[in-house]
Amino acid sequence: MKITKIEAFAFRLPPRRDFRWAGLIANLGGFVAVRVETEGGFVGFGEATPLPDWGGDWERRCGETQVTVCHIVNAVLGPALVGMDATAVTAARRAMDRLVVGNVYAKCAIDIALHDVWGKIVGLPIYKLLGGAVREAVPVAHMIGLMPEDEALIEGVEAAADGVRALQVKGGVDAERDIRLAAALRRELGDDMTLRLDANQGYGHGKAAAQTVGRLVDAGISMVEQPTTGLTYMAQVTASAAVPIIADESCWNVNDALDISQARAADSISIYLAKAGGFVGAAKVACVADAQLMACDVNGSIESAIGTAANVQFALAQPAVTLGAVIAVSAPAGTHPCQVAGRYYEDDVLAEPMAFANGAILALDAPGLGITVDEDKLMHYRCD
Ligand SMILES: [Mg+2]
Repeated sequence: MKITKIEAFAFRLPPRRDFRWAGLIANLGGFVAVRVETEGGFVGFGEATPLPDWGGDWERRCGETQVTVCHIVNAVLGPALVGMDATAVTAARRAMDRLVVGNVYAKCAIDIALHDVWGKIVGLPIYKLLGGAVREAVPVAHMIGLMPEDEALIEGVEAAADGVRALQVKGGVDAERDIRLAAALRRELGDDMTLRLDANQGYGHGKAAAQTVGRLVDAGISMVEQPTTGLTYMAQVTASAAVPIIADESCWNVNDALDISQARAADSISIYLAKAGGFVGAAKVACVADAQLMACDVNGSIESAIGTAANVQFALAQPAVTLGAVIAVSAPAGTHPCQVAGRYYEDDVLAEPMAFANGAILALDAPGLGITVDEDKLMHYRCD
C-alpha cells in the first residue's frame, strides 16, 4: 500500500497546571502531528513533542522546535517517502537516515504514523506487529514537576489516591530541597510507592552527584534518574549508588545503550520513541537493555494522545520495559479517569479516554495506535 501524502502541522493542548523540569523554559503542551495517507484511503497519525532546550550529554544533541520538525517533515522527509510502501517501516527509517542526519523528533513522528497506518491496513494493534503483548497493561509513573515542596507533596498524595504506585519527582536545581521532598513523600506515602528522582543532570560532577544520591537514598528515594552528565560521571555514581541509576539524557539510541552497557554508566535506561527516532530505533535500545538485564521505562515529554498511544503500544510489547512509564493517561475534556495521575492536559485529541485501572493503562486493542484521533479537535488545537 503506497504512501500518497505526508503532512506535518503544529498543535498545542491546554495544560492542567504549570509543569517544569530543570532547564525547561516553556510549559508542556506543544506538539507536531504527522498525518499519512495511503492508497486505499488509509490514514495514520504520528506525533513529536520537540523541545529546543533539552538534549544529550555535553550538548551533543540538538534541540528541535515545532517549526524545525514541520519543515523537515514537509520539505525533506515527506516528499521523499511518498510512493514508498507504507508498511515497510524499517526501509522508511533507513531512507530518512540517508536524507538527513539527526532530527529524530521529525523521524519519530513519521515512524509512528507509518506504524499506525500499517496496523490499520492489516487490522492489528501495533503491539501485535511488534511481537505481541508481554503484559496486559502499562503501569504509569506520575511526574511531579518542579514546584514548591508543599504543592509537590499534595500532587504526590493525590496521584497515589488515583492508584499509581510510582512517582517521578523532578529535581536537580536545589539538592537540599530534593532531599527534603523525598523524605516528606516517603513519610506521607509509605514504603509501597516507588519514588524516582529525576535530576536532569543537575547534581554536578561525579563525586558531588554520588554524595547527593547517597543522601537521597537515606531520605527514601527508590531510584535516581540522570544525576549527572556524561558516561564517566554517570559510571562513577552508578558504581557507588545503593539504588538503581537510570540514564535518560545519556541514552538516545542503540549506540548510546551499547556505550552505557560497556561503561557500566547506568543500571536502567529511560527509552523515548523520540530520542531513538520512533519504534524502529527504540526497539533496538530495548533489545540491548533486555540482553543486559537493564530494566527500562518508556518516558517522553508528556505527549498528546497520539504519542502516548504509541508509548503504550511499545511498552506492551517490550520485555525490558518493566518500570512505571512516565506518560500521560490521555482523555478528552471532562472524561479523565483520574484527578491528578497522568493528567497533564485539560483536553486531548482522542475520541474516548484511555482505560485506566490499578495504576496502569490497559491495552489499546483497536488497529494501529488503538485510539480514534478526533480530527476536528486536532484542527481546533492547530497552531501553525
Ligand atoms: Mg528524565
